[in-house]
Amino acid sequence: MSLIDNLKDRLKVSDVEGLKKKAKAIKDIVSNKPGKNEAEEKKEEVPAGFIKCPDCGNIIEKKDLGKLRICPKCARLFRLNAKDRIKTIADEGSFEEFDVNMEAKDPLNFPGYPEKVKQTQTKSGSKDAVRTGVCTIGGYRTVLAVMDSTFMMGSMGSVVGEKITRAFEYACDKSLPIVVFTCSGGARMQEGIVSLMQMAKVSSAVARHSDKGLLYVTVLTDPTTGGVTASYAMLGDIILSEPKALIGFAGRRVIEGTIKQKLPDDFQTAEFSLSHGFCDAIVEREKLRGVLKRILKLHGYKKEAE
Ligand SMILES: [Zn+2]
Repeated sequence: MSLIDNLKDRLKVSDVEGLKKKAKAIKDIVSNKPGKNEAEEKKEEVPAGFIKCPDCGNIIEKKDLGKLRICPKCARLFRLNAKDRIKTIADEGSFEEFDVNMEAKDPLNFPGYPEKVKQTQTKSGSKDAVRTGVCTIGGYRTVLAVMDSTFMMGSMGSVVGEKITRAFEYACDKSLPIVVFTCSGGARMQEGIVSLMQMAKVSSAVARHSDKGLLYVTVLTDPTTGGVTASYAMLGDIILSEPKALIGFAGRRVIEGTIKQKLPDDFQTAEFSLSHGFCDAIVEREKLRGVLKRILKLHGYKKEAE
């Protein structure tokens, strides 16, 4: 019997039909994910202008979260975008942004990437996942870089790498300290190797800034993972974190699958990082500005004006 006949014999028409039916059933289940529908239904329950706190379950009027975006019932920290974060840290009106219009190229001709970037830009009002600039914090002149989880989950591509590198170079030239708020799902896979190269580029800029004896403070916010953790997030002279922030490299499931062990429940939290020496202090959001100001003062930087 020839190979073809053999195959024909084994794949009887009835089997093929059966397989087609199974494939269709699976497709239907996937396209009607119950999880997705439940989430949508829950979302619909909350009236406009309100938000349901995932921790305490209370329905809260959005304006009651305040500019720090903290749940008034249980103190859960909601994520802050870069623009709002800068307002909570820099002295009013002092922030001068760098490279405002720098935007991503598509080095790999990745399908759908330019469209996704455009879409996110329109939705978020930002050109990419980080804002950098110079400001004063309580009168101390400081370079500030703030990553934005609302832009493609704060993924680090060539724009994030280039902007943060330039921020460090500016700080180096002007002998200024730098504060970086990290928040990232990791490298931007649509830029492949170009995105991974940013880790080395930013790290070299951090080293040059450090060689000049200048101060670098990192503030880890939820979530700080992947290539950002593996490079500049963990290179700060002082590493602060917001409470309960997710801090890790690979995801929990990947690690558990690799080491074939169950990880502790608090694994990859700010608190876990603190108790294992990867972070120096956990600072409440409302105290961050004051703590940064004190750190700058302690390191002998001169106050300009409040
Ligand atoms: Zn709450």
